[in-house]
Amino acid sequence: TEDLTLEYRVLQYGEKQYLLIIRDITQLKQLEQIRKDFVANVSHELRTPLTVLQGYLEMMEPEHLPQQAIWQKAHSVMLDQTKRMDNLVQQLLTLSRIEAAAKVHYDENVDAPAMLTLLEQEAHSLNREKQHQISFDIDLDLRVNAITEELRSAFSNLVTNAIKYTPDGGDIKVSWRREHHKAVFTVTDNGEGIAPQHVKRLTERFYRVDQARARTTGGTGLGLAIVKHVLSRHQSRLMIFSEPKRGSSFSFALPPELVVGELTANQPKLP
Ligand code: ADP
Repeated sequence: TEDLTLEYRVLQYGEKQYLLIIRDITQLKQLEQIRKDFVANVSHELRTPLTVLQGYLEMMEPEHLPQQAIWQKAHSVMLDQTKRMDNLVQQLLTLSRIEAAAKVHYDENVDAPAMLTLLEQEAHSLNREKQHQISFDIDLDLRVNAITEELRSAFSNLVTNAIKYTPDGGDIKVSWRREHHKAVFTVTDNGEGIAPQHVKRLTERFYRVDQARARTTGGTGLGLAIVKHVLSRHQSRLMIFSEPKRGSSFSFALPPELVVGELTANQPKLP
């Protein structure tokens, strides 16, 4: 195809004998491009809050300090921007930690129901301003083998997104249930929804449907990239169903092998 990148080398051995080596480096080139884009994105994301901070610090020249209004505004913006940078750096660290850990080691018997009960309380406090109806339907016996912190971050990212991207007074349903021997987690909202052309790109790093608006919600565009990685390390995938203006549903299923109490093909069946 036209997109193929080939590398040629001609080696001479003997007087009239040559060896032509052709190497397909298409994938290497693509990886290199992804790496470059990533660095460019990170730099941009870190520079934006830094520029804002700098602007406000310049405004806070000593002669302006007595003006309470300027000081208060500057203080709140600077606090927001610092939090944003901190959030971004935290998520980058999570992503790189997940990528660096080649070996997957599952913790046994992870109390996912307790994790979700805690998340339910956090969701209600996060929701205070938005006044959504949030309901959690948790199977209290459904424990799994998983990487505890990673599973927690997948749950939390999906629930937080539903709260963030649903206009005030929305309806959000979270469930953790056993289905066909699998552990299925689902978050459904009746929020803004996502057009099909965006859905397939949502798990790309820094991808946001509406860049400008996502900034005001404090997002980094890394949440779903983290969820995708986490799920691939749990033999699972993120499923997204969404319809603009009607809402979205994000779900994943952990396979029977990871569900505590499920018999798997490899285990001897009890009589
Ligand atoms: P962010 O930090 O921007 O929230 P994510 O990776 O978590 O990054 O999500 C990527 C984008 O997917 C968001 O910016 C938003 O446009 C879209 N999105 C995620 N969850 C939802 C949802 N429940 N409803 C509508 N859009 C969503």
